[in-house]
Amino acid sequence: MKKKVIVSACILGEYCRYDGKIKKINTVTEALKEYEIISFCPEAPLFGTPRERINVMQIKGENRIITEEINRDVTDLLREEIHAFIQQHPEAERIILKSKSPSCGYGTTPILNAKKEIIKIGNGIAAELMSEYYTDIKIEDECSYET
Ligand code: SF4
Repeated sequence: MKKKVIVSACILGEYCRYDGKIKKINTVTEALKEYEIISFCPEAPLFGTPRERINVMQIKGENRIITEEINRDVTDLLREEIHAFIQQHPEAERIILKSKSPSCGYGTTPILNAKKEIIKIGNGIAAELMSEYYTDIKIEDECSYET
């Protein structure tokens, strides 16, 4: 049986980015020929594609996920979606996530204040939850696969 790897769906070339653009990174799929790829995107099933952009915002000391235009707090919805995914895939042995995303970014995501200024760089909500659950797996960033 092949080992399983979780990969952000957009870097596999799926139509799921907020702006509707496709951004496939061929070197990722090439590097994973020996693996069973588990595609992951928490945003598209909840909000569709294309959709309003979301940001990680620090509010009262807590990171919340807020939509760009109508300022809707979608943190709990995303958390539920990501938890459900993790429960379905406890056996993953590798994780490769999209850089800078409010969901998938691992140590690369801008965290904003109420004025939408960048106050630090941190994790998206999915990367954060995955790093808490998959404690034995080092999360990889797509950037190391770009040529
Ligand atoms: S970065 Fe993550 S949430 Fe955003 S489109 Fe890609 S897979 Fe979906």
